[in-house]
Amino acid sequence: MALILSIDQGTTSSRAILFDTDNGDIKAVEQRELPQIYPQSGWVEHDPMNIWQDSLACARKICASYKDIISIGITNQRETTIIWDRKTGQPVYNAIVWQDRRTADYCKMLKQKDHEKRVQQKAGLLLDPYFSATKIHWILENVAGVRDRAENGELAFGTVDTWLLWNLTEGKMHATDCTNAARTMLYNIHEQQWDDDLLKLFDIPKSLLPSVQPNTHDFGVATELGNIKIQGMVGDQQAATIGQACFEKGSVKSTYGTGCFVVMNTGDKVDMSEYNLLGTIAYGFDKQTTYALEGSIFNAGTAIQWLRDGLGIIAQAAETEALARSVDDNGGVYFIPSFTGQGAPYWRPEARGMIAGLNRNSSKAHIVRAALEAQAYQTRDLLEAMVEDSKVPIKTLRVDGGMVKNDFVCQALADILQVDVDRPEIVETTALGAAYCAGLQAGVYKNQQDLVSRWKLDKRFTPQLTKEQADTLYNGWKLAISQQLSINA
Ligand code: ADP
Repeated sequence: MALILSIDQGTTSSRAILFDTDNGDIKAVEQRELPQIYPQSGWVEHDPMNIWQDSLACARKICASYKDIISIGITNQRETTIIWDRKTGQPVYNAIVWQDRRTADYCKMLKQKDHEKRVQQKAGLLLDPYFSATKIHWILENVAGVRDRAENGELAFGTVDTWLLWNLTEGKMHATDCTNAARTMLYNIHEQQWDDDLLKLFDIPKSLLPSVQPNTHDFGVATELGNIKIQGMVGDQQAATIGQACFEKGSVKSTYGTGCFVVMNTGDKVDMSEYNLLGTIAYGFDKQTTYALEGSIFNAGTAIQWLRDGLGIIAQAAETEALARSVDDNGGVYFIPSFTGQGAPYWRPEARGMIAGLNRNSSKAHIVRAALEAQAYQTRDLLEAMVEDSKVPIKTLRVDGGMVKNDFVCQALADILQVDVDRPEIVETTALGAAYCAGLQAGVYKNQQDLVSRWKLDKRFTPQLTKEQADTLYNGWKLAISQQLSINA
C-alpha cells in the first residue's frame, strides 16, 4: 500500500488528505477553517501565518498516525498573493485573496491605455484584479519600504503553493508550478517563461519571482514533516481537472466551491478567447504542456454562506436541498450572487449582487432555490461562450466541489445546460489531482491512462426539462443580468 498526502489549501479552509493509491480510498482527513479578513467592501485578505500553520498542523496530525507516506502533493487557492522577507520568512502584508477587487481602478486605467490585448496574447488572461500581478503592484506601492526592499532582492513573491513549499522546506525552495505561474499575469503561457514585457508593464522586479516547474517534479523535501518528498504542485482548478481525468481534448469539468470554475482541455495549444474566457495551462507533465480554456465565476458557494451568515435564513448548507424542493418552481425569483463583482463572461469587477423578481408570494424557499439555480445559469453563461470559442459541442460535464453533494444543484445543471452531468465517486478531486501529480512523479501511477481507468461514476444526472423550458428559464436570468449590469454601470 502506497500512501500519498495531499495538502489542499483552499479559500475557506486548509486541509490535509491521505490517499491510498491502490484504490484511491481516502484514509484520513484533517481540516481547519481559514478566517476571512474583509477590511473594506471588495477587499479580501488572509493571514499568511494562518495559512501556513493550519496547513502544517493538519499535515502533522496525519503524519503522526501514518509512518509510510511516500510523497506529498500540494494544491492551492490560486492567484492569492503573498510577499515575504527572504531572511526572516515574515510576510510584509496579509495575503491578498483572489477575490479581492482593490485594484479595479488600476486595471481600468491599464485597459484604457489599450494594454489588454497584449496581456491576453501573452498570459491568456484579461486585465482584471483577479490575477496576482496587480495585487503585487498594490503591495509594492502601498506598504512602506517594500518597493526598495524588493528592488534590493530582499523579498520573495509566491502564490500559496510557493509559500507552503518555502515553509515546508524551511526556506530552501522558492518555486512554483506552471499552472500557478499561469495565473499571475506575469507568465507567458506560450513561451513558458516569465515575461519581461509584462513585468515592466506592472512595474515588478524579476528578483521577486520563484522558478517555474512542471506539475510533476521533485520540488524539495518537507523537512518540517519528517523529510517526505514534495513531488506534485498544482493550482486547485487544474488539480480538479487532473483529478477528474479530463485528459482528452474537449473534455470539461466544473467545480462548485467558493467560486465556480469551468475548465475545458484544449490540447497542445490555446487560442485567444473571443468570448472573454481565459487561456491557461491545464497541466505540465514532464516536458509536455497541455492547455485549457477556463471560465471563472467568483461567487458560487458564497451564496449559500451568505444565506446562512448574512441573511440567516438557513442554519446549514445542506438544508438548502429540501427547501428548494419545497416549492414547485423559482416563482420568478433570480439570485445573482456577484458579491465581489462579475467574472466570466462579463468581467465587471464593480458589479454587485442582486435578487430580482420578488413578489408578495416569494418565500425564503424561493430565494434559496434561486441561489442554487444560479449555479446552473452561471454555468450556462460560461458553456455557451466555451462552445463558441472552441467550436466543440459539450455532451457531458464532470462536476465536483462542496456544492455537488446537493442533488438539486446537479439536476438543475443538467436541466438548464441540457447536457448529462456526471458526479464521480470521489468529489475531492482537487486533493486527488495533487496526489496524482505526486504519484506520477513518484512512479506509483504509470501514466495518464492509468489515471483515466481509476475515474468512477457515482451518479449521472440527465435533463428532465425540455430545451424550450430550459431556454425560457435562462432568458429570465439573462434579463436579470442585464438589469444588474445597468444598475452597476
Ligand atoms: P472551497 O474549496 O472553495 O473552500 P468547497 O469545495 O469546500 O469550497 O465547498 C464549500 C462550499 O460549498 C461552501 O460555500 C458551502 O456553502 C457549499 N456547500 C456545502 N455543502 C452544500 C450543500 N449541501 N448544498 C449547497 N451548498 C453546499
